[in-house]
Amino acid sequence: MTPDINPVSKPDFMPVEELRALQLAKLQKLIPYEYEHVALFRRRCDEKGVKPRDLVTLKDLAKFPFMKKTDLRDEYPYGLTAAPMREINRFHCSSGTTGKPICIPQTKGDLEVWTDGAARCLAMYGITADDIVQVSYGYGLFTGGLGAHQGAERLGCAVLPTGAGNTEKQIMLMKDLNVTVICCTPSYFLHLATVAEKMGVDFRRDTKLKHGVFGAEPWTDEIRAKIEQISGITAHDIYGLTEISGPGVAGNCAFCHGMHIWEDHFYPEIIDPDTLEVLPDGEEGELVFTTLDRFGTPMVRYRTRDLTRLQLGQCKCGRTMRVMDRVHARSDDMLIIHGVNVFPSQIEACLMKVPEIAPHYMIELSSTDTMDLFELKVEVTAETFSDSVSAMEAVRKRVAASIKEIVGLSPKIYLVAPGTLPRSQGKIKRVIDNRKK
Ligand code: ADP
Ligand code: ZN
Repeated sequence: MTPDINPVSKPDFMPVEELRALQLAKLQKLIPYEYEHVALFRRRCDEKGVKPRDLVTLKDLAKFPFMKKTDLRDEYPYGLTAAPMREINRFHCSSGTTGKPICIPQTKGDLEVWTDGAARCLAMYGITADDIVQVSYGYGLFTGGLGAHQGAERLGCAVLPTGAGNTEKQIMLMKDLNVTVICCTPSYFLHLATVAEKMGVDFRRDTKLKHGVFGAEPWTDEIRAKIEQISGITAHDIYGLTEISGPGVAGNCAFCHGMHIWEDHFYPEIIDPDTLEVLPDGEEGELVFTTLDRFGTPMVRYRTRDLTRLQLGQCKCGRTMRVMDRVHARSDDMLIIHGVNVFPSQIEACLMKVPEIAPHYMIELSSTDTMDLFELKVEVTAETFSDSVSAMEAVRKRVAASIKEIVGLSPKIYLVAPGTLPRSQGKIKRVIDNRKK
């Protein structure tokens, strides 16, 4: 097929040799800059005996030290800031899903790189200046809202910056203003869908919604199918993280099962999280990014803790930028229950195989002196919910069988009424781990 190359998406199709040369040229500028301006990086390079001039080929990047989230915390607030305050335009902080927030000062150029990434994702999804885009990600320190906003404005879309929350009003505006694109977390969209149903609003019949731009949290293929089935929209995946810019580091095209990474801005590596060796494309490990053209808080070999793989071969869409698998888990999301390693996304996939189950659940872990207790609260769909003990018991058994078969565990399962588990306006928390450490 002939790719539809508009000015925004043009770099996506850059010949591979040109892309590699560009990456090397950008790295050869970034590494000496980081060495000069960030004491921690300089110290670590010196300890390893590596100098910026040692970066002769892309492979040489592996000689340089990693950065981690703990470095951002230890160096808070300005230890990793490389640009003078005069050049800083904006601050963002991570939402702190896994601890105390970290702060990323950005220059005008950094914001430009981020906006470019987000706009290229939206263009790739088929969104154009004709679209009306409702941004229901949180605005503020969290990168979700402003990231999607900047990207949509760059494309010339009409942007409706609702932010998160106030769900009934969001649905009213969506309907009245003929919104065609919604940007939010997948879990918030599921909440929107439930509230819409209660208000008697059918997305297919009463709205013009065509696209959903979903990210900021792991979501399974099963949830994606569910979203598309209940709403009739196309659910697109957008990936990003505050440390590297925000949403728009990677996104899916119409062909790939995964996400193209905007490699002209963000250089990816996959490492073995134990040995820290770089793994070849095709092998799964921890995703590491180097920001190629951000100068406020540049990241060199930043360990994301997200687990994925860089796919082999070129995508049918013609884009040369490598595709990473969808991110189903962070390494620190892994739970060890009764000695079994399990990710919440695996439980979610099991649940979604049972048609009577709604996409809302909560994993609760506690412990006695000798063992773990694993409880699972799961909402059933409104059609399924009934007072019949035997009907509910049959569904519970199906859920138990699905989990036993796929993850090999037998949690205590509670089926609960529709709408009773907590909903989120942003990233959802589906695990409560009260086990004694
Ligand atoms: P925090 O670390 O506080 O959650 P961010 O808000 O920057 O900070 O979140 C970035 C993280 O969110 C990513 O590292 C990844 O784990 C997750 N994430 C973002 N987009 C996606 C996506 N499309 N699919 C899966 N996980 C995602
Ligand atoms: Zn593609």
